[in-house]
Amino acid sequence: MRKFTIKEHEGNCLCGAVHFVASGDPVVVAQCHCVECKKTSGTGHTTGAMYSLDSVQITGAISKYSYVAANGNNVTKAFCPVCSSPVYGTNSGNTEHLTIAVGCMEDIAEFTPEVVIFSDNKPHWDLIDPDLPAFAKQPNWKPENEA
Ligand SMILES: [Zn+2]
Ligand SMILES: [Zn+2]
Repeated sequence: MRKFTIKEHEGNCLCGAVHFVASGDPVVVAQCHCVECKKTSGTGHTTGAMYSLDSVQITGAISKYSYVAANGNNVTKAFCPVCSSPVYGTNSGNTEHLTIAVGCMEDIAEFTPEVVIFSDNKPHWDLIDPDLPAFAKQPNWKPENEA
């Protein structure tokens, strides 16, 4: 009998001090153009893969920075204290999940964005797939249909 296995996605920060393994497919892959994501990414957006907390294992020391987002939620950005690569983010409005920085994924090509948020804040030169659903601000959306 064949054993069912869930695909694991591995990732590292730039220096390798932080390593993570995410099990299975993400709940959603979102591209965010909010003011804070532009600053932490150093460019026009972040791309994040949302996973439930229990499907991600992270090893290595992490530094965190928290702020209050426009909708009042507390958002925490976690990054490597050595190389400052963004690793993941959490949001007080959705405590069951975290969002991994897709740029740290080894198989980044598998994480195609499915939705765009804060499209109002998108610089005109940051081109996105025009067929993607886009929300001008943060949509009032929570993952509820998880297996
Ligand atoms: Zn690092
Ligand atoms: Zn954002």
